Amino acid sequence: MIGTLFIFSAPSGAGKTSLVTALLKSTPHIGVSVSHTTRKPRPGEVDGVAYHFVSVEEFQTMVGESAFLEHAQVFDNFYGTSQRWVESELAAGRDVILEIDWQGAQQVRRLMPDAVSVFIAPPSIEALRQRLQGRGQDDESTIERRMRDARSEMSHYGEYDYLIINDNFDNTLLELQSIVIARRHRLQAQQVRHADTLAGLLAE
Ligand code: GDP
Ligand code: ADP
Ligand code: 5GP
Repeated sequence: MIGTLFIFSAPSGAGKTSLVTALLKSTPHIGVSVSHTTRKPRPGEVDGVAYHFVSVEEFQTMVGESAFLEHAQVFDNFYGTSQRWVESELAAGRDVILEIDWQGAQQVRRLMPDAVSVFIAPPSIEALRQRLQGRGQDDESTIERRMRDARSEMSHYGEYDYLIINDNFDNTLLELQSIVIARRHRLQAQQVRHADTLAGLLAE
């Protein structure tokens, strides 16, 4: 039984991390990949929880060792997804979420065409700015940089399987849960999961 790989992308501040945290609480058998990054930790961010925080040198060594399923430069920092962790989770039948940017999403789609990709957009540019400011973890110049990059991230929404607008948080969470649950009920997966039930139903 192979788990499903979900790719979630959104401009910084759209609500991706809050939604994933809520999704993990409410949905069993799903985990999120902890990326490696050269970004400095924000206040309260613990190494190994939000990210594995590494130096540029350590990151480049990992690139050289082909340790990443995908990696990309986002803003002024490098981000990458550990190949080993993702593959072992999927092999164990657990679903895995990647919170990655559009460049990483393109790389993963090429390598794993069965991955399900979801783009999460804010309801407006004003709401995005308010959320970045309201989060209170980035200084004004970082927020300006992220607002500038938001348009280029959002211009890639058409490459995703699903598009969600994060206006009302609870509605958005339900929409994300629906995508995960619907995916688990595809015929191929159900045939494996319920082989005995199906055999019993069809027995003479
Ligand atoms: P936040 O999204 O505002 O919380 O900011 P982050 O610093 O956590 O993430 C910055 C950007 O890097 C986002 O566009 C993420 O989607 C992207 N990102 C995070 N982790 C990875 C990764 O492992 N690989 C790739 N390619 N992008 C990542
Ligand atoms: P991302 O991981 O995409 O950068 P976060 O999850 O850090 O985004 O969310 C950015 C800010 O927006 C946080 O302060 C979060 O509480 C807030 N937020 C998330 N979703 C909503 C929503 N639907 N309505 C209002 N605020 C939201
Ligand atoms: P932040 O630095 O605010 O936590 O994240 C900024 C952006 O980096 C987010 O949009 C997030 O999706 C992206 N990001 C985080 N981790 C990865 C990763 O491992 N790979 C890629 N490609 N993007 C990532």
